[in-house]
Formats: sequence, C-alpha cells, structure tokens
Amino acid sequence: MADLANADDTPLKHESDIEVPRGLSLPLHQSQDLGEVVQTTRFHRRGNAGDEPQGDDVVEILDNRGDLILVVGTQKKKFQVCSRTIARASAELEKHCRESTPHSEDYTHDSDAVATHRRVYLPKIDPHALHVVLIIIHGSPTQIFPKLTDLWLLRDVLIVTHHFDMTDCLAPVAAKWLKKTYDKDVLRHEAVAAQLWITYQLGHLGCVKQTITNMVMSARLNPSGELIGYGAADTQKYCKHDTLKALGILDQIQECRGNIMTHLVRMVETAVERLTRPPLQKRGGAAQPTENGDDVIDTGAVCRAKSSYIRCDCAMLGAMHRAIAAEGWNSVDLNCSPQWLYKKIQKMTRMAQAWAELPAAHAECDPFGGQLPDLMDICHAAVETIPFDESEFVKRGNAVGFEKIGQVHSGYRGR
Ligand SMILES: [Zn+2]
Repeated sequence: MADLANADDTPLKHESDIEVPRGLSLPLHQSQDLGEVVQTTRFHRRGNAGDEPQGDDVVEILDNRGDLILVVGTQKKKFQVCSRTIARASAELEKHCRESTPHSEDYTHDSDAVATHRRVYLPKIDPHALHVVLIIIHGSPTQIFPKLTDLWLLRDVLIVTHHFDMTDCLAPVAAKWLKKTYDKDVLRHEAVAAQLWITYQLGHLGCVKQTITNMVMSARLNPSGELIGYGAADTQKYCKHDTLKALGILDQIQECRGNIMTHLVRMVETAVERLTRPPLQKRGGAAQPTENGDDVIDTGAVCRAKSSYIRCDCAMLGAMHRAIAAEGWNSVDLNCSPQWLYKKIQKMTRMAQAWAELPAAHAECDPFGGQLPDLMDICHAAVETIPFDESEFVKRGNAVGFEKIGQVHSGYRGR
C-alpha cells in the first residue's frame, strides 16, 4: 500500500507498520528512506552578509537555540528546530533524525561559530505542511490561526502527521480547523476526497459518514467500473487519490453506491407491483377507500385523497408504464450516479401524475402512494452498513481534542 509522503515511489526495503485504525494500514518508511542525504550546502543565518548565495541561506528559525537543521522537500527548505521538541512530538521523526547518518559536511556552524547544527534531510516531505507542524510543536499554534480556512493545507498537514505518527500534536488547532473547513454539503470530487481524508484522520466518524454519504450520492462509474466523483472526468477516478487508497475503504464505498442503485431500481419495481396487485379485500363487495375501516387492507392502492374515491391506482399504473417507456427506464445505464437516477424517478413520478389525469382531489396521489423516500435518507441508511471501528475513531478524536468541544458542526450527524 502506498505511503503518502512517498506516493510516487516504489516500495522500499525498510518498512514497519505503525498502529493505524481499522481499514487504514500504512507502512511507514523508516529513516533509510527519509534520511537520504541529498546534497550539503553551507549554512548561514538569514541576513548574514556572507560569501554564499542567498538562496542557500534562508533558514526558518523555529527555535533559535535549536540544534538541528531540517532540510525539507525538493526545495530544500531549511528549518532550525530543537531535537528534544521533535522527540516529544514524534518518536518516528526523532528516530529518523537520530538514525540519519551524520557526515562531517552535515554539520554547519552559525556565523560566530558558537553553535553547531546537524542537518537532517527529508527530501520527500512537503515543507509547507511540515512547517505548520513544526510551528505547532514549538509552541506557537496561534500563528497557524490565519491559515485555518485552508482545506488543502489541512489535508497536506495530515499526510505529514500521519507519516510521522504525530496527528495528536494538532490538538491545539484540529477542532477549529475542521470547523472552518468542513462542508456538510461537499460535492465536488477533489473536495470530497480531501474532506474524507481529513475527517478520517481526525477521527470524526459523524463527519466521515456524512462525507461518504455525499460521495456515494453523487458518484458514477466510468466505463472501467471505477468510481468517479462529481465534476470529475472519466480518468479522474477516486482511486487515483493516494489518500483515499490509503484509507482502504474505497471498495466498501463503491459497494455502498451499488447497493443504493439496486435499492432505487427495486423501489420502482415495487411501486409498479403494488399498482398491479388487485385489492386484497373490498368492503361489501364494492370498491372502498383504502384509508377507512379496520377491515379494509388494500395494499394495491396508492390513493391519498380523503374523499371522492376512485380507483386512481388503475389510472396511475397505466400512466407509470407510459412514463417508464418514455424515459427508457428499463434500459437505463446504471453507471450513472444515484442522484441522477433518483431525478429520473422523480421525473417519471411527475409524468405519471400528469398522465393519470385524476381529479383535483387526487392531486397528491402518485405511483409511490406519496411515500417516495428522500435520497439522502436512502444514502445515509446505506452508509450506516459500512462497518467502522467506532472506538478507534473515538480514540483518535479524543487525541485531537474533540471530546471537549462536542459537535464540530451542527449540520452533521455527530457520533
Ligand atoms: Zn387518488
């Protein structure tokens, strides 16, 4: 399974499994990978009029007494940090720093030669995301507050913290950040993918389920049978997102979407069967309204009119058959999204109501007896069948501080 921080790389020799929630199993590449020494350059403090080009000189100082220089990403962004702070925040990152092979040229000295800093290379880590993490663990989380509306940065930060098994260090900002970026109506595929990764990593099961609900509702299949989100081209499949692949729940989500499609198809079949069935009982041999009388059970009827009884189910049956034919329902391509299919059902319902030509008192009678369920409810019910280890979510949610704040957003179904 792909390691996110090294998503473009082939698997490496030295891997160990970190403890991850059920359905999420990522190998964490160890220092042999991350500590790869790329190139050494002389270190100079920013602003020091020196003998080296400025490009190499810029060092972001997280701790001016820090003893390590992290050289991060292909951009080789440099951060001066404290090794003890690193050790407290992440055993994995500390181990990497400790095990990265020191070379004499990896020691750099500041201009007055009072301090020595060892360099540690993290060429495959996103420097912008790691910078956020370093600011937080060095005790300045309020510096991050202006960035808390940035969904994409949160996604990237969680890739880094997951990689170094240090997501709990985000506790000072996690709830606030999720609250400012979470969208319960998220629809577009890139945002859905990011939000699912974020909510999963932060251990908020309510938000995870709502995000998956939006996802299954709007997802179609491409000709290869792969899940495609709203607004995506056939090639922009969900399985191309390393984060979603890493969660290991795409198959379950795809199955869930399939179940919803089957449910919708069956709903139309059931409505037609119900209209076709003859009344089970008739009072006194004459046709009677179905809603009156304990001795009348007429499952074949769809009539919702309180008076002016007519056999509107017969008219509705004929009208529904015409609507089904007119809309080509029996040959519809089921690779479409549940949302699209549901709209078709709604359209056939309106057509059948119009074509049944019933009196005004029967304006509310429809092929479903007024009981066409809401699509969101159908999708919620289907998502509830996906098995999640709730205790694992609670543990992770607590680690980033959700137990203190309750629901992050009033619009989701909290755990
Ligand atoms: Zn009626």
